[in-house]
Amino acid sequence: MKQQQHQKIEYIIEYGGLSSGEHEFEFDVDNQFMQQYSLESFENTMNINVHITLIKYNHSIQAKVKLTGNISVHCDKCLIPYLYPVHTENVLLIEKGNPESSTDEILMVEENDNKINFSQYIYETISLALPYKIVPCEVFENVKCDDEILGKINQNLSEKNKFSTFAELLKNKFKP
Ligand SMILES: [Zn+2]
Repeated sequence: MKQQQHQKIEYIIEYGGLSSGEHEFEFDVDNQFMQQYSLESFENTMNINVHITLIKYNHSIQAKVKLTGNISVHCDKCLIPYLYPVHTENVLLIEKGNPESSTDEILMVEENDNKINFSQYIYETISLALPYKIVPCEVFENVKCDDEILGKINQNLSEKNKFSTFAELLKNKFKP
């Protein structure tokens, strides 16, 4: 359940009362969540759906976590706005222990706490989904760098006022 306490967004599932078997959960994650970790780059729109299938066995719990959606980014090369697709799927084992010792495959929960906090996992997964350098125009077949803008960038590189010219250009280019 999405919990908002003191503005803090967390994604927590309480499993204490759940019966054995499969249970489905859904969360919608937006950039506000990522900003809690002071990630300025997540000022742009982000829509990620988190689908969790919790499988409760007699003595253990497994979570299948699927993230799908997109993050709005700008091409690092030509600044064209682009929705970067996110799609990850992982299986996590839930074990009792120190949450800070969690790994990619094992999510630790406090001994006497019947809650699983997926926040850190979701944050890390989304952070890793984006490459260090974002050039959708080179990665995806359906996107091409904007030649006009690339031309202007090259043309203005030596000019003192490149930033103002460039800002003006972008403003006009992407007017709704
Ligand atoms: Zn580009």
